[in-house]
Amino acid sequence: MTNMEQDRWSRVKGRLRTSVGEDVYTSWFARMDLESVQPESVHLSVPTRFLKSWIQAHYAERVLSCWQAEMPEVHRIDLTVRTAMRCAAPAKEAVALLDVRRTERPDGRPAPELRATAIAPVSASHDALGGSPLDPRLTFDSFVVGRSNTLAHAAARQVAQGRRGDSVMFNPLFIHAGVGLGKTHLLQSLAWAGNATAERKVLYLTAERFMYGFVAALRTHNAIAFKETVRAIDVLMIDDLQFLQGKSMQAEFCHTLNALIDAGRQVVIASDRPPSDLETLEERVRSRLAGGLVVEMGSLGEELRLEILKSRLTAGRLMHPGFDVPAPVLAYIAKTVTHNGRDLEGALNRLLAHSKLTGQPITLEMAEREVRDLVRPMEPKRVKIEDIQRIVARQYNVSRADLLSSRRTANVVRPRQIAMFLAKTLTLRSLPEIGRRFGGRDHTTVLHAVRKIENLVHSDTALAEEIELLKRQLQE
Ligand code: ADP
Ligand code: MG
Repeated sequence: MTNMEQDRWSRVKGRLRTSVGEDVYTSWFARMDLESVQPESVHLSVPTRFLKSWIQAHYAERVLSCWQAEMPEVHRIDLTVRTAMRCAAPAKEAVALLDVRRTERPDGRPAPELRATAIAPVSASHDALGGSPLDPRLTFDSFVVGRSNTLAHAAARQVAQGRRGDSVMFNPLFIHAGVGLGKTHLLQSLAWAGNATAERKVLYLTAERFMYGFVAALRTHNAIAFKETVRAIDVLMIDDLQFLQGKSMQAEFCHTLNALIDAGRQVVIASDRPPSDLETLEERVRSRLAGGLVVEMGSLGEELRLEILKSRLTAGRLMHPGFDVPAPVLAYIAKTVTHNGRDLEGALNRLLAHSKLTGQPITLEMAEREVRDLVRPMEPKRVKIEDIQRIVARQYNVSRADLLSSRRTANVVRPRQIAMFLAKTLTLRSLPEIGRRFGGRDHTTVLHAVRKIENLVHSDTALAEEIELLKRQLQE
C-alpha cells in the first residue's frame, strides 16, 4: 500500500471517528483495516463476522460517505473478515502481568483455584486444554434453586442441555452476584454436566487460569493452532472475570471471546459485577459481554439458606454418619448467618468439628455460641443507588427528585454530594454511571462531590458521624 493510500485511510478514519463519535468508533471500527484501494471500490477488513455484519447493518452508508469525501469516485465498499485473526499482544506487558500475580488480590482472598478441596479426575479434554480444577461437590444435584437464582439456574441448565453443533440461545451468558452466592457452583455444575457427555468439550477457567495458563499456551502457538484450540471448545466458562487485568490479557480475552461466539460456541462468564461495572475492560468488550444474556443472582433468602444447609448436612452425614443437627438449629443458622453460602458451609463445619471433638450432641445453645463467633465479619450488603438516594433524602428532609434535579441551593447541594459520595464508596458503580443516576450529571461533577465530602469528613466530625450513621443504615 502506498503512503498516499495510507494517508487517505487515516483521513477517512478521522472522518468516521468525528461522524460516529469516539465510543462507537472504538467499539466497532478500531480494528477495521484497509486491504486495498481500487479506482471505484475499497476493500476493508475486520477480524470477526460479528463486526462485519454489525457494520454492514448499521454503518455501511456512513463508511461509504466518509470515503467519498476523500475519493468521490468510490462507489462500493467491500468488507471482509480477515482470515488470520490478529490481536495485539505486546510482550513487555506479559512480563508486567506476572508481577501482578505476585501482589495480593484487591480483596485479599485466596485465588479461587485454591478453594477446590477434593480434585477429581476431570475429562481428558478439560485437562488437555488446561482447565482449572473442578470441585466434585459443585454439581447441579447439589445446587439448590430458589427465588434469587431461578433464572441463572435455568439459563445454565439450558446451556448444559445444548449439544455439539446446536445453535446457542444466548451468548455470552453472563452471571453476576456478590461473593458466596453460587457463581462458581453454577459454572462448575455446568462443567460437570458437559463433561458427562463426552461429545461436548467444556472448559472451565478462572480468570487467573485464563491469564496465566491458557494465554501462555496460546502464545507458544501460532494463529492456526489458536483456531484449532478454539474449534476444540464447545463451551468456555470463565469465572471471576473481574480479575482479568492488563491490556494484553484483555486483547486475548476479546480475541477468544469473539472467535468463540462467531464460531457459534457457547461462552459463560461469572463476575462479581455486571459488565457495565467492569471498569478496566474496554468499552467494546463490555458491550460484547452485555450483548448476550446478563443475569444477576440475588442474595440467598432464608428459605434457600435452609435448603442449602439441609443438602449440605445430608452430604456431610454420608461421611460422618454420627453427625446430626436438629431442625431448630438448622433454622437458627439459616436465620442468623449471612447471605453468603460460604459462611453457611463454615457454620456447619464448625458444628461438625465441635461434635467430633467433644462428642456432645448439638444443641441450640452450643450453635448460638459457635455461629456467633464465626459470622461476625459479615459481607457488606450490596447497596443500591436508589436506597442511598431515598435514605439521604429522608435524613436531610429533601425529596429524591430534589437530589436528581439541577437545583443548586445549599440545602440540596450538600445532601446530593453526600449521596454521590456514598454511591461511590458503597457501590461498585463507576463515576459516569453514578452521574447518570443522579439526573444525568457529568462524571467530573461526581468526582468533585466525592473529593469534597472526603475532605470535609476530616475536619467536620459531626458530618463524619452523620455519614457513618447513613452507612450503617444502608448496610443493615
Ligand atoms: P461465588 O462463586 O458466587 O463466590 P460459590 O459458588 O463459591 O460462590 O458458593 C459459595 C458456597 O455456597 C459454596 O460452598 C456453594 O456450594 C454454596 N452455595 C451457594 N449457592 C448455592 C446454592 N444455590 N445451592 C447450594 N449451594 C450453594
Ligand atoms: Mg466464585
